[in-house]
Amino acid sequence: MGIAEQLPERSRRSLAAGGALMAFLMKYGPRAAAPGACDFMAGNPTELPLPEYVEALQKAVVADSPAYYRYGPPWQPAIDAVAQALGERLGLPIDPQDVVLTRGAASGLVLLLRLLVERGDEVLMMSPPWFFYESLVLQEGGEPVKVPLIGERFDLDLPAIEAAITPRTRIVLLNTPHNPSGRIYPLEDLTGLATILQEASERHGRRIFLISDEAYARILFTGARMVTPAHAYPSTFLLHTYSKSILAPMQRAGYMAMAPAMPDREALRMPLLWASLSMGGPPDTGMQHAMPELERMLIDLPAIERRRDRLVAALRAMGYRLETPEAGFYLFIHSPMPDAVAFCDWLAERGVFTLPGEAFERPGYFRMSLTATDEMVDRALPILEEAAKLTA
Ligand code: PMP
Repeated sequence: MGIAEQLPERSRRSLAAGGALMAFLMKYGPRAAAPGACDFMAGNPTELPLPEYVEALQKAVVADSPAYYRYGPPWQPAIDAVAQALGERLGLPIDPQDVVLTRGAASGLVLLLRLLVERGDEVLMMSPPWFFYESLVLQEGGEPVKVPLIGERFDLDLPAIEAAITPRTRIVLLNTPHNPSGRIYPLEDLTGLATILQEASERHGRRIFLISDEAYARILFTGARMVTPAHAYPSTFLLHTYSKSILAPMQRAGYMAMAPAMPDREALRMPLLWASLSMGGPPDTGMQHAMPELERMLIDLPAIERRRDRLVAALRAMGYRLETPEAGFYLFIHSPMPDAVAFCDWLAERGVFTLPGEAFERPGYFRMSLTATDEMVDRALPILEEAAKLTA
């Protein structure tokens, strides 16, 4: 038996859960990043970062005391700035004591899973999920349970969620605005979900927590408003990140916040801080010191929205079927060929790199990121027009 086979079962299952995505990224990742490629694969920057972002980081890495880079608690002014800004955006009084700085949304999710999940606990997630949810839940000893989103608009299926809850359900993981559909769930649905979770928690004598992955909360198109389930369900944890609002995602930073109505939130503060510090979870000192400024920055959203409008109109005119996203970076499009992997292979052979729905548990779709440049769109459109005629 090789060493990879000797790894714990949860590690092996975690890796297997990422298989479809990994295969595609290994095959095309380097080619998609090469000059001349039309890269629609991921929510990645294709242009230089905001100059004010780089300046803020440059300033923030200059130590003003020998203690600057010390081990220690997170930097309080960053926490205060984050609590203030998040609270204003969501219309909630977020207490700075309920905020934990993280290395992006992913590390906030790991922190919460590690803290809350007993081995074998079930974590409900909506499908299509973000690619790493299942892997992370398995790695932390949980059992992923998937509930499909329904219809062309990827609605929450409240009866199916209710039916999927068992006495082992510990967490419901929701992503709004949703990747890849760009859907923001309305308060009415979130209130319905809250009622289900409240009743099930009481029935089973064990609290079900809601984790709301709000990574795209600031990537909102005209007319869209962010709605957080924290307004509806008290036991909600919020995950936020700069990976989308600033689009420099490998410069890791974000935060987790507890909803102001979370019961016993005072008792959760120390366990959260301890888990965060022990896993090396807070962002680097420089990132922490830049955070108050990062809160005020946002990528060129009108440019992303123009690209959305142009692509949606052009793709529909070619015969593609897709909804218009309200938020986020992506178009999720029906593949003309039933085999979306073969379809995305065909595009990739012609220098247009997208992701097949198989990577999102939704065969028959493909995803395009709006973070590509306008020039990439120019070059990709004739190829997409030709591809629209493929049927088998
Ligand atoms: N959640 C969702 C829904 C995402 O799409 C992403 C990034 N693509 C993340 C979390 C991860 O965000 P971060 O880079 O902040 O860890």
